[in-house]
Parts: sequence; structure tokens; C-alpha cells
Amino acid sequence: MRKQRIYCPYCGNPVIQRHMERKIRDFCMECSHVFYENPLPVASCIVVNEDRQLLLVQRGKDPYKGMWCLPIGFAEADEEVKDAALRELKEEAGIEGEVVRLVDVDTVDNYYYGSLAIVTYEVRHTGGSPAPGDDAIAARFFPIDSLPPLAWSSNDKAVKIYTDFYRDTWAMIDSYRKLFPEGQAVEEVSTDLEEQKTFLSNILVKIIEVSADEIMGEWSREVKSRIPVLSPHMDTLSGVNRQVLQSIRSSLQGKGNAGDFLKFRDAGRELKHLNIGFPEVFNAMALSRKSIWVYLIRKKILSSPLEIYITLELNNRIIFLYDKIIYQISSGYAER
Ligand SMILES: [Zn+2]
Repeated sequence: MRKQRIYCPYCGNPVIQRHMERKIRDFCMECSHVFYENPLPVASCIVVNEDRQLLLVQRGKDPYKGMWCLPIGFAEADEEVKDAALRELKEEAGIEGEVVRLVDVDTVDNYYYGSLAIVTYEVRHTGGSPAPGDDAIAARFFPIDSLPPLAWSSNDKAVKIYTDFYRDTWAMIDSYRKLFPEGQAVEEVSTDLEEQKTFLSNILVKIIEVSADEIMGEWSREVKSRIPVLSPHMDTLSGVNRQVLQSIRSSLQGKGNAGDFLKFRDAGRELKHLNIGFPEVFNAMALSRKSIWVYLIRKKILSSPLEIYITLELNNRIIFLYDKIIYQISSGYAER
């Protein structure tokens, strides 16, 4: 518990409490000194490793002995607050680092220490491995999405601000890593259906589903104007493109099956029998892909890095699917 002031350190007379400037303040009747209470600066560090784990130390003394918290300690009068943060990091956790940015300043009234201003920095780990020192009895990294209860509410607040700041970035990185599955060549018909269900860009798939007719109409107009030689075969080609959009939708939703793409080999055989040139069919498929892309760009406001990412990610997934479809069509053409 914070110690009470009884005597004035300047004249030795008893201190009284008096209502002044909207607050109860310690006051010396003898020398008229007013004791203003100012928060003590406290510095703490958020260090997160490459595996998205947060460095915590376990407290070796009260208050909150045995609980975990960020490396934290009082800044001294002659010390920059961020230097105090790095010093505490080294003393309590054995980690060297450099400050990346200020995460949060929280002012709290603490039962043990009185008024505190807790300054939390994001710190990049530059050396050392976790080793408890000073008042800490343990120091280790915890997955940031499953932390033990923290000793200080200011630590919880700062960690939340930190994770909110990186949420979109982490979501993009996680989704992007799934874009290029190992060893997937176009002749491998299957796609990992479970994986398809966890992409960020799935939010756009619904738009493609409800707007299929509009996308088809756009495609049809463009094929007729850009590849006039295909005009007499629009009925057949439209049938193929409708199947293409259907297969792409199912595949994006993780509802497809391996046979979905094999039917385009039959389509290739049929188009060949109608004496439609393969280069023109290839071109029509390129326009089909473009029609989805153009439609999404037109419908979706690209107002944040996350939305732009989602649109680009969907485009990438669709490119892979068209590659598979065109591969199957060309295989139909290649048959004797
Ligand atoms: Zn006094």
C-alpha cells in the first residue's frame, strides 16, 4: 500500500488534507506548500517473435507474485522512458531489443504504487534468449492468442491495441500462404477443398454467385465484339462458359469434386468437332476470367489494403482454376 504523507519534508510540521482546485490535496499549513500528485512513469515492452508469440515474465515478488506480465519497470529521472523499457527487458527477461513504435500510454491509479503512467512500446528482438533476471522467476514466449492472465490491466490493454493493429496484416499473411499449395500442377484436378473454405477472399464468392447472369452477359457482349469469328457458335460457347463459372464457384466454395474439371475435356472435344479454333477458345476463356475480375472491381469499393488484398487473392485463385479448365479443354482438342 502506498505510504501516507504525515509531515511536511520542508518545515517538519503536520500535513493536512484540503479541498483545492477540485481535488483533495496534501497541504502544509505552516509553509503553505501544496503537494501535487503526479503519475510515476512506468515502461513496458511488447516483444513478439516470428511465430507470433509474446514475451512474458513471471513475477517473483508481490504485488501479483507468480502472475505473468510484460517486462515492465519504473523509469528513472535521468532516463528516457524507452531506454527504461529496453533496460527492464534486458534485466527481467535477458532480451536485447530496439524500439519499433509507441503502442500505448495508460494512466492508472494503482493500489500499491499510486498514480502511474504506463508507457508500452513495441520492441524488435535483436539478441539474447529468454532468461529470467531481477524480480522475475521465469521468462518465455506465449502464443499471442492464448496468453495466461496478466498481472496488469494496462498490459492487457496494450496487447489488445497491438493485436488490433496487426490483425489485418496477419490475416493477409495467413491467407496468402495457402495460395500456392505444394506441388500442384494443372493436370492435378483436385484442389484442397477444406483449404478453400478458409480463404479471406471467400467474402467475394457470394457476389460471383448472385451475379452470374450479369457476368455472363458482360462476357457474351465482349466475345462477340472482340472475336467475331465465334459469333455463330455463341450458344455452344455460352453453355461451356456457364459450366466454367459454375465449376469455379463450387471450387471456390470448397464444394467442387474432382470430376468437375474433367468435363471440360469433353467440352474441348466438342468444340473441336465444331471446327472452332483452339486459339479463339483460349481467348474466350481469357475474357471469361476477365469478366469476373472486371465485375468485382466495379462492384467492390477498394478502400483499404485488406479489401485490395482480398480482391487480388481471389484473382489469383481464379487464375489457377482457369489454368486447370484450359488445360482440360486443350487436352480434349489434343485427342485424335
Ligand atoms: Zn511545510
